[in-house]
Amino acid sequence: MSTVTQVPVRNIPVAKPYFGLEEEEAILKALRSGWVSQGPRVAEFEKGFAAYVGASHAVAVSSCTTALHLAMIALGLGPGDEVICPSLSFIATANAIAYVGATPVLVDIARESYNLDPKRVEQAITPRTKAILAVHQIGLPAAMAEISQIAAKHGLTVLEDAACAVGAEYREKKIGLPHSRLACFSFHPRKVLSTGEGGMITTSEESLVLRLRRLRQHAMSVSDVVRHSSRDVVTETYDEVGFNFRMTDLQAAVGIVQLDRLPGFLERRRMLAARYNDLLAELAWMSLPASPAGCRHTYQSYMVRLKPHAPVSRDGLMQALLNRGISTRRGVMAIHHEAPYRRARGADSLPETEAATRETLILPLYHQMTEDEQDYVVENIVDATRRA
Ligand SMILES: *Cc1c(COP(=O)(O)O)cnc(C)c1O
Repeated sequence: MSTVTQVPVRNIPVAKPYFGLEEEEAILKALRSGWVSQGPRVAEFEKGFAAYVGASHAVAVSSCTTALHLAMIALGLGPGDEVICPSLSFIATANAIAYVGATPVLVDIARESYNLDPKRVEQAITPRTKAILAVHQIGLPAAMAEISQIAAKHGLTVLEDAACAVGAEYREKKIGLPHSRLACFSFHPRKVLSTGEGGMITTSEESLVLRLRRLRQHAMSVSDVVRHSSRDVVTETYDEVGFNFRMTDLQAAVGIVQLDRLPGFLERRRMLAARYNDLLAELAWMSLPASPAGCRHTYQSYMVRLKPHAPVSRDGLMQALLNRGISTRRGVMAIHHEAPYRRARGADSLPETEAATRETLILPLYHQMTEDEQDYVVENIVDATRRA
């Protein structure tokens, strides 16, 4: 390793989406075709996505947040129902439960996986519990077998916040099916695959699909594609209160190309993560990401943890790296620290969540990151602790 003082200060972001010429051409073609809202490209993207994860159906929407919102409605969750979810997650996880008037019950995580602790899930069940919203945090699958077993025992529905888990695998099957009734994905630029903004719901239940397709489009009884291709005048009806949560064909055009790139994205992320694991292994004060048996991580984020005896504080390390042009982020947030959820059920007993949100940070990782850039990050982590 060269000494850091000889290396000029660089600018390394924590994350960066990757788009190429193909995305530019695809979006231009869609624009010129005249189909700019939800149309044939959305249908094509859905088909490709369903085939990729092995689901029978995929429904594209405007974000993972709107995907989760529709999922809650389609599963019939509402006021008086308790839905179990982790506090260590992006706030949209709990917001989706709140949107339908249901009650989020915040449950602690398992220390190593940063995902729901099945034991604590079972302890949180009451006669009002209706569903478990499992999150595959930063791309590592949650303990779906244990969670499903608990759900079956208590007659609960399971659904998945798979925002970060496009391409993740659980027991040799992709996240997306058949691990629960519904899985919701995100295509935000911070995630593995991006359409700018966008989301997808996968399921094997035909009745859910029909409802979701209607709800995303004002609950209209016929889609624009059907109306445009019909030789007869079609009159639609609106049988319930719906939403405009459509994905556009401009976004889907990008998504189709990104889906082609996905195996390459995952390979590169996993290679860079393995390289971080090797390079950081010598630091006894840092815990590296766990890889539980049967789980394949997407490394949507590469999150490390500072042990209590670390020679620097978490925030001190983040500042030292920023001084060298390296952006990091604090680890996953704790939902119960935010105003709407401070008094949420379960908020008073989340010791592992408290510790994780205090002790973790996310290191830079993106498709186009070079090994040289990664070496620079590692050298500066080592250097920051030497000077501390
Ligand atoms: C990013 C994220 C979301 C929200 O996704 P959007 O597509 O931005 O709405 C929800 N849950 C988790 C766990 C996330 O990481």
